[in-house]
Amino acid sequence: MRFLWKLAPAFAAAALVSSGAVLHSDFEGGSTGRIDKVSDRHFHVGVEGETDQDGRNRQATWYYFRVDDAPREEMIFDMIDLPGEYNYRKNSGAITQETPPVISYDGKTWTHITDLEYDRTEPKLRIRIKPASSRFWVAHTPPYTNSDLAALRTDLKRRPDFEEQVIGKTVESRDIYLWTIGGGSGKKTVWLMFRQHSWESGSSWVAEGLIRTLTGADERGRRLRDRYVWKMYPMCDPDGVARGGVRFNRHGYDLNRNWDVIKPDVMPEITAQRKAIAEWIAAGNSIDLFMSLHNTETAEYLEGPPSGKATPEIARLAEKYFETLKTRTTFHPSRPLFYADESTTPGKPGRMTVIQGLWRDFQIPAFLMEQRVAYNEKLGRPPTIEDRLRFGQQLAEALAAAID
Ligand SMILES: [Zn+2]
Repeated sequence: MRFLWKLAPAFAAAALVSSGAVLHSDFEGGSTGRIDKVSDRHFHVGVEGETDQDGRNRQATWYYFRVDDAPREEMIFDMIDLPGEYNYRKNSGAITQETPPVISYDGKTWTHITDLEYDRTEPKLRIRIKPASSRFWVAHTPPYTNSDLAALRTDLKRRPDFEEQVIGKTVESRDIYLWTIGGGSGKKTVWLMFRQHSWESGSSWVAEGLIRTLTGADERGRRLRDRYVWKMYPMCDPDGVARGGVRFNRHGYDLNRNWDVIKPDVMPEITAQRKAIAEWIAAGNSIDLFMSLHNTETAEYLEGPPSGKATPEIARLAEKYFETLKTRTTFHPSRPLFYADESTTPGKPGRMTVIQGLWRDFQIPAFLMEQRVAYNEKLGRPPTIEDRLRFGQQLAEALAAAID
């Protein structure tokens, strides 16, 4: 049990025996930092955050908790401990009034909370909730856990043209999957990657929508898997997803940096993923388009491989892909197409993203897509689970069109 009461023990004990509301995060994917119960209707909730192997680059993005025995009057949750650091630059945190939390009364259907107040001086995000029931869950974005993936996997095992390989184990000995849909040879190949960062649950809902489209019994599913090979890492950091982590693997390494170093003892995830790609290439196959999907708070963009601009063939592919996404999907970019530098921190080892590392080692046309959790003008709302699933469908078609 992990009650996370960082209070004087006597007071904590008193709070636990009282009949008032209690917060829990001791479940799959759950996370809070320190909790301070101001009154039965008012809590300070720290966002736990995570730092890297050197104690740097703190990111406090993910929170996911359950409230039991809630009163029926309005409750206040002040989300605190938000400031962080990104690529070694300090910031006041990713959580603001632009990132509305979601609430659920059944753990399955999630709606955005609109009664928010952001104080940028502290900083602090105040959430007001008038509970419709005595138990509810609150999270940064609709969660997608290892159990959700396991349910999808059970279903996929009955589908045509689905293959699974376990390419390695994580630090905590969880399987790392490589899934193939529509295998075979002599076809163009798309290779995808999801959840390099454990908090980014939105990208998993997109993955689910895409995978269900590719394995569908309808004409579209048949066409997409007959014409192309689809390979993917559906869950790159299952350890982080299990513990309600943010950005780093069990040893503190960012799985979307470090693609320029080989350290299997502390980053078995990257080692296994790179090896499977190297073997595919060495066997004479191609990767015609690679993409890693991510979430950010307010930005949405497509980043192409380093040197993309200098390579006309890759620039053509990138422009075609970007244009297709913009015109045929709900992707709503906040900046134009651009190309990655050779490293996120030039001269420092362990600072290459997957697209930078794959370009350096194999000249793969690799892309990184960020999708916002904030309000999306094209949708007219912050993205819901249904929006993410639908984008997954659209993404399958856009990827096929780009390499066609
Ligand atoms: Zn990310």
